[in-house]
Amino acid sequence: MMFWRSVVGKLWITILLLVSVVLLILTILLLQYFERFHTERAENELMSHASLIGSVIEDDDTQNRVLAMAETISETYEAQAVIILDQEQYWYTEQVFSGAQLPIQVFYEDDVLSRVIFEQESIATEGDYLFESIGEEGTEELMVVGTPVQFPDGEIGAVFLYQSLDVVEEATSQTTSIILLSAGIAIILTTVFAFFLTTRITAPLRRMRKASLEVAKGNFDTKVPILTNDEIGLLGIAFNRMARALNTNLNALNQEKEQLSRILSSMADGVITLDRDGGVMVTNPPANEFIGAWLYEQGYVTEESGQLPEELQNLFEKVVSEEQEQMGEVDVQGRSWVILMTPLYDQYHVRGAVAVMRDMTEERLHDKLRKDFIANVSHELRTPISMLQGYSEAIIDDVAGSDEEKKELAQIIYDESLRMGRLVNELLDLARIEAGHIRLNLEPVNMTEFVERISRKFQGVADDNNVELMGEIDQSDTEAYVDPDRIEQVMTNLIDNAIRYTSVNGSVKLRLEELPAGFRLDVEDTGAGIPEEDLPFVFERFYKADKARTRGRAGTGLGLAIVKNIVEAHKGRVSAHSRMGEGTTFSVFLPFSQGEDVNELTS
Ligand code: ATP
Ligand code: MG
Repeated sequence: MMFWRSVVGKLWITILLLVSVVLLILTILLLQYFERFHTERAENELMSHASLIGSVIEDDDTQNRVLAMAETISETYEAQAVIILDQEQYWYTEQVFSGAQLPIQVFYEDDVLSRVIFEQESIATEGDYLFESIGEEGTEELMVVGTPVQFPDGEIGAVFLYQSLDVVEEATSQTTSIILLSAGIAIILTTVFAFFLTTRITAPLRRMRKASLEVAKGNFDTKVPILTNDEIGLLGIAFNRMARALNTNLNALNQEKEQLSRILSSMADGVITLDRDGGVMVTNPPANEFIGAWLYEQGYVTEESGQLPEELQNLFEKVVSEEQEQMGEVDVQGRSWVILMTPLYDQYHVRGAVAVMRDMTEERLHDKLRKDFIANVSHELRTPISMLQGYSEAIIDDVAGSDEEKKELAQIIYDESLRMGRLVNELLDLARIEAGHIRLNLEPVNMTEFVERISRKFQGVADDNNVELMGEIDQSDTEAYVDPDRIEQVMTNLIDNAIRYTSVNGSVKLRLEELPAGFRLDVEDTGAGIPEEDLPFVFERFYKADKARTRGRAGTGLGLAIVKNIVEAHKGRVSAHSRMGEGTTFSVFLPFSQGEDVNELTS
């Protein structure tokens, strides 16, 4: 079945049919031609023999001689001769073929044959005469020729020769079989050649089909071998060219797509593309983070595709219905995302939406810090101011009886004003450092000497508080480029804290260590410690671990914030470690120098 549907089969069948039809027509024509040819030849031969007999009779009409000759001819050619002398007399040669003789009356009575006798015309018939054969063969066709003769005595007679058409047919059938044989051979040859021809055509086609399948699979390097210069070869060339063009086009497309996806994936903002039904089409990593966080919050273990926060869905519905960009905010896992969603159009209609989301947590935090800062400052100032008001009122109203008491009140007012002054100064300092307005007066400082000096300075304070102050200081000649006044402020704040938050009989250890890149300075105490959850916040402004306890000691909560800012201005780092009830360690790392320009100065 497959075979007939293939090009080979179709071509083959077509060629075979064509050749067969042509051969058939040719055979029929040839057969007719040969039959005619044989008949004519037989007629001519018979006629010439008849003439020969006639000419013999004209010379010598002796019956014996004429008959002997006629008999020779009839035997050789399987023809029967009849010689008619006159109306009554006739001679028959001996019968040479099966079947009866033509009765003599036929020659006198037949319209055509009688013309020879009566009108002296030569005639030839091609088998129009039938006679019943006596044998089994049935009717037999006969060919008859006749020619008039003149006897020496001037009498007019006729010679007839007739023959069975079997002789002619024999010759014809021989020709027929030769023609049929050659036709058969022609058909067989055609079959073979047509088959080879068509396979030659289809083999490259089949190769091309295979190559097309390869190309469809994405194998664009596939090439069809070009073996011929004909239409199939041209088709192969065109095919190869097409594969190349496809390759370039696809590459270009891929590049464009890759570029787009690279842009998307390297964007800091999250991008989500939604289709008309609100299904997620494209997301980039920040957007995935957002969705992942939301899914985690919702308690979905696996990512269920198409799930989006309700706020986003509402936003999407609004974008689709109003065909206008919309803005919203979603809080997920403690981070706030601002979402801007714009409609996505195809030719005329909204096809979906693009959401761009940005993590605004830091900005929100800054806003909050600023608000907190103002609240804290006001709060910090309100307490001393109300104290100043209260105690000065008490003096004015003469509430205090003795001078002693008045002095005590005045002392409190003085202390509070000092505290206020310090708070305002520290705030100013902090503001200046944070705004980057301070200039560090960097100079080479021998840290060993520097730390030893500060240690001596705090010895008295430590003694007053019954705290032991120890030093564990590396002896080093290396100098660090720092602003000594600022670093003294850092150490003062740290040591002050350590002594202040350490109970009686505790100890504070100052440690200086030289590292490859700078100095490490530790202030270690055996105080109450800072709760672990508060450690990340100790460097924030106004942080106080224990509000109730600190109140009495009159801290402002700015000391560590100043420390951090100064250290960072020196390109250093500060960190805190603590264990509740055991003590706290603050570590400061200061690099030898702060940058290229300083290095250049030293070298
Ligand atoms: P200020 O230093 O401005 O007078 P302050 O000491 O309260 O006020 P910071 O030095 O910034 O402010 O310290 C913040 C808080 O950190 C303190 O209130 C205290 O609770 C805690 N703290 C700081 N150092 C220590 C320490 N060595 N041991 C225990 N707690 C500490
Ligand atoms: Mg302090």
